[in-house]
Amino acid sequence: MNDIINVPELFGSDVFNESTMKLRLSADTYHAWKKCIENDLPLTLDVANDIAEAMKIWAIEKGATHYTHWFQPMTGITAEKHDSFIAPTGDGKVIMEFSGKELIRGEPDASSFPSGGLRATFEARGYTAWDPTAFAFVKDGSLYIPTCFFSYTGEALDKKTPLLRSIDEVSREAVRILRLFGDTQTKHVRVSVGAEQEYFLIPKSIYAQREDLRLTGRTLFGATPPKGQELDDHYFGTIRTRVSNFMRDLDEQLWRLGVLSKTKHNEGAPCQHELAPIFTDASNACDANQLTMMVMKKCAAKHDLVCLLHEKPFAGVNGSGKHNNWSLCTDSGKNLFNPGKTPRQNAQFLVFLAAFLKGIDEYQDLLRCSVAFAGNDHRLGAHEAPPAIISVFLGDELTAVVESIIQGSDYTNPEKSLMRIGIDVMPVLPKDTTDRNRTSPVAFTGNKFEFRMLGSSQSIAEPNITLNTIMAEELSRFAEVLEKADDFDVALQKLVCDTFTNHQRIIFNGNGYSDAWRVEAQKRGLSNLSNTAMAMTTYLSSKNVDLVTRHGIYTEQEFRARYEIYLESYNKLINIEARTMVDMVMHQILPASLSYSSELAESIHRKHVATDGKVKALTETSLVERISQRCDSLYECTEMLYAHLKTVPGDSAEAMQYYSNVVIPAMNAVRKDADFLEKLTAKNYWPYPTYSDLLFY
Ligand code: ADP
Ligand code: MG
Repeated sequence: MNDIINVPELFGSDVFNESTMKLRLSADTYHAWKKCIENDLPLTLDVANDIAEAMKIWAIEKGATHYTHWFQPMTGITAEKHDSFIAPTGDGKVIMEFSGKELIRGEPDASSFPSGGLRATFEARGYTAWDPTAFAFVKDGSLYIPTCFFSYTGEALDKKTPLLRSIDEVSREAVRILRLFGDTQTKHVRVSVGAEQEYFLIPKSIYAQREDLRLTGRTLFGATPPKGQELDDHYFGTIRTRVSNFMRDLDEQLWRLGVLSKTKHNEGAPCQHELAPIFTDASNACDANQLTMMVMKKCAAKHDLVCLLHEKPFAGVNGSGKHNNWSLCTDSGKNLFNPGKTPRQNAQFLVFLAAFLKGIDEYQDLLRCSVAFAGNDHRLGAHEAPPAIISVFLGDELTAVVESIIQGSDYTNPEKSLMRIGIDVMPVLPKDTTDRNRTSPVAFTGNKFEFRMLGSSQSIAEPNITLNTIMAEELSRFAEVLEKADDFDVALQKLVCDTFTNHQRIIFNGNGYSDAWRVEAQKRGLSNLSNTAMAMTTYLSSKNVDLVTRHGIYTEQEFRARYEIYLESYNKLINIEARTMVDMVMHQILPASLSYSSELAESIHRKHVATDGKVKALTETSLVERISQRCDSLYECTEMLYAHLKTVPGDSAEAMQYYSNVVIPAMNAVRKDADFLEKLTAKNYWPYPTYSDLLFY
């Protein structure tokens, strides 16, 4: 089983990456491509034709017969449509063809992807365009070409386009700041991202028996098992053979695709695991995370397992999230969130830190929205993931620095020492301040920020678009002030000090799970948008619309279209969950409990007849009574839920509030009775595997 893997040789072997390009393209074509990348220029058709030909030959050698423009529509997952390379030669034979035009531009019949009203049906076509900064790869017999997806009139219909726009924006504004600190070299600032991915693995045979898992990706029913995760015997525990075989296979496939899979371990909940990659640039990290999720699912199937990426597959058991590690670094590799060694470097670090804090504070709501969707509502604020309140953890050392800068402005207290930025040396921060405070939504971990509110199934594009845009905004405001300053040092001191003072409320190092924090956060005026329906009411605020349009991340129309899509997908999802519940109650749960209770009734009757009424059959009688009461109640709740689904408002925003405030509570009531019946009904009558079967197989 354990054949030796030559990882360096294997890594990226299925990717048409830069080294393969260098090898396979003529020197002229390679340099032309490189120049386009470096200067953000479009490829000429000649160059594209050469690249396409080399790509085709390479892909065919790798077993490909088809190519596909791979894109990331607003559904949050990826889409692909495969075309074969064949072209008829007129004599009943074919040759394999692939042109530059086919590489650069595609026109999938994509009218069914959500557009939020951006496309009228008469111009329903969507177009895809190769993003030449992302490498093509071969998977399952097809050449995959990473593309952007947009409408006939040029509106972005995907998550990749705004991500690329936001990366450019933050780069430009960060370079402006660097120039003020005397950096004349840096041309681009890159966004680096590493997304840690949590997931569950359960046996396929058990999964197949549950309609809720198959239709919604999570269990809509299930009584709490006698054993949960309280023993902490799974976290970092020995990985069982079936799972470790899966992980080995997964790593191998990811490495082939050039995904920097680095760490794997068991997570807190039974059957829960995590994969962490080494960070790369944001656009690449976004593709890599999509590939990781895709390969996880495929690979699990090969091992007779199912990979659950849902945020909360099992109630009462920790759900899955994603940690988005985010930082900025120059094209020469200098991390801008690395506190420096000299006062000057420290001053620059403090400017970036101040911009980050200000941005998070001012756009709490937008950041909250970037992780708002139905699945994530089960996690945020549920004492297993960060609260729904946004705050930033800085750690003790850095908080002390921030506080002394703030207090420096307080001239009424001469006792307090004044810290002058760029002149005083900042205390040397210990290199590894990796915090273990897992309760913070945004944590500074030495040289990067870890945004921990993402759900496990979601695309990392949206949160990164938001972080990049917020950062671009604040850096540009800072640049405007500093570029105009007569005395740079004085202006810098004032800017950083004022910013820390005005936005200190966003810093919180304590326990984010505690009730005390909720009270404290409210006093500080921080928003607490505890679910998606609440969060989305803030999305279209003029502040947010101004932000995204000012930086050209979205046109107002594109932004509104996204809002529509978030609402629609929330409403559809809750609707499917509710209808699945009704279906399971009527076709599985009620019939099971009712036939068990009729068996009990027959037994009571038999005992009565046989003993002339002397034996009372108390246990059976009591069980029958309790089961029938619960069945009555469950039936009533289910009828109620069904009735609610018939009166959903037509307007999507109203519908969202209705689903959140009326339908979800009705679903919870149904679940409560059904789970009670599970406890009362004999195992051999119960229609689907229980939590014990699922989690402790
Ligand atoms: P943990 O959060 O579990 O303590 P680590 O500190 O090892 O894990 O790192 C978590 C993730 O952060 C990894 O994916 C790593 O590649 C990523 N990371 C490290 N440095 C940076 C950086 N400068 N920018 C973005 N991500 C980074
Ligand atoms: Mg982490």
